Amino acid sequence: MCGIFGVSGLKDAAQLAYLGLYALQHRGQESAGIVSVDRDGAPHAHRGMGLVNEIFSPETLRSLIGDVAVAHTRYSTTGSSIIQNAQPVMANYHRGPLALAHNGNLTNARELRDDLVRRGSIFQSTSDSEVLVHLIARSDARSPDDQILDALERVEGAYSLLLTIGQTLYAIVDPRGFRPLTLGALGRGYVLASETCALDIVGATPIRELQPGEWLKIRDGNITDLPPLPRKESRRCVFELIYFSRPDSTVFGESVDRVRRDLGRELAREHPAPGADCVFSVPDSANAMALGFAEVSGTKLEHGLIRNHYVGRTFINPGQSARTAKVQIKFNPVRGVISGKSVVVVDDSLVRGTTSRNLVQMIRHAGAREVHFRFASPPIKGPCYYGIDTPNRSELIASSHSAEEIRQHLGVDSLGYLSLPGTLRAAGGDPDRFCHACFSSQYPTVVPDETPAEREAASLAHAVSL
Ligand code: AMP
Repeated sequence: MCGIFGVSGLKDAAQLAYLGLYALQHRGQESAGIVSVDRDGAPHAHRGMGLVNEIFSPETLRSLIGDVAVAHTRYSTTGSSIIQNAQPVMANYHRGPLALAHNGNLTNARELRDDLVRRGSIFQSTSDSEVLVHLIARSDARSPDDQILDALERVEGAYSLLLTIGQTLYAIVDPRGFRPLTLGALGRGYVLASETCALDIVGATPIRELQPGEWLKIRDGNITDLPPLPRKESRRCVFELIYFSRPDSTVFGESVDRVRRDLGRELAREHPAPGADCVFSVPDSANAMALGFAEVSGTKLEHGLIRNHYVGRTFINPGQSARTAKVQIKFNPVRGVISGKSVVVVDDSLVRGTTSRNLVQMIRHAGAREVHFRFASPPIKGPCYYGIDTPNRSELIASSHSAEEIRQHLGVDSLGYLSLPGTLRAAGGDPDRFCHACFSSQYPTVVPDETPAEREAASLAHAVSL
């Protein structure tokens, strides 16, 4: 997953972009970059591995001159974690220097890339986003707008994009609208960000969220709406609301905090834990869910686990042993709250089962009498091909184990996860507008490494297990 931020028509654009990236750090912690564009249309770039505050010094930021900027925080879903894959991607395109920041994942990148390489393209990275740059540069269309359109018509999958060509800033959302992107106003200029929390940090006022298939360009303080991309059914990523986005953001027109409370409320209705002494969250992503659960069930809300905030997301470090050790580094139980009690633990999602299993051992060790685990979303059964870093199907515990097997594996007295209808109800609005392929295996596009028969089998298995 990634976070993107763009600025147009504002002095010291890179400084604003830096703040924006700070607010989007949770969307990617592997690398970050800012490209600014000065009055002559010349780019100034800095990219690095690590966290935003480690990458940019005050001197570096001062060297990124200009009133236009695009910026990116990354963790890899396609392509490995190396500096060559850090974004924004840059190119010396014949219409002017080009910089591109991409959130999402292109599902046909492999085929497009093979074809481009056969025709002589030389790639500098292994990321799917670079494919877009080559497609734009190779288009025979006459204007940059049409060249971009040409490229977009060839790619499939998820893309929210910020792109500069010289001083023109483009903002683009794919026709299914998998990933969020919001336009905001600041002084005489504009900013764009994956989440509204990044508009808040720079003091920008949200204007509107880009709708699926919408694209626009901004130059010299003027916004031009371009004709929408060919229509497809909207497929907003429901996992953005469950886990990925920050609760202080508004995403897909919904307050993330409101959705998470409702997920907790639905969970308490579907899977109450009568007789439990208290309920607490796995902090921080499940905090609002535990609140909702406590409200509906009448169970006392507690802080049973404390999270160390100086550790990144456990998932992001590759390798199972690193992950296991990191759970202990990241969480510690509050013994006074847990000892001798029957506790309900609420987490947002079940992925590999690693975090939950370790947490349960920790909670039992702290003296819990009973442990009732509740997940505020259905179990993840299939990988995401649209930009969320979920593991291969074989590593997803729910793809091959029944609820009872998982209960035993986690070592809990009872286990419950929210149904898909309950999840979509809490997500608000029309349930058909969401992508929930990670839960249902109903992928809205052809996916890269599964045959249609495998997909159908996965989808059927899901229908049976409902
Ligand atoms: P596990 O116990 O191994 O199933 O992991 C579940 C935990 O991982 C939950 O606490 C989630 O908040 C978190 N999680 C879910 N999806 C992701 C993701 N794509 N990246 C990082 N963490 C995640």
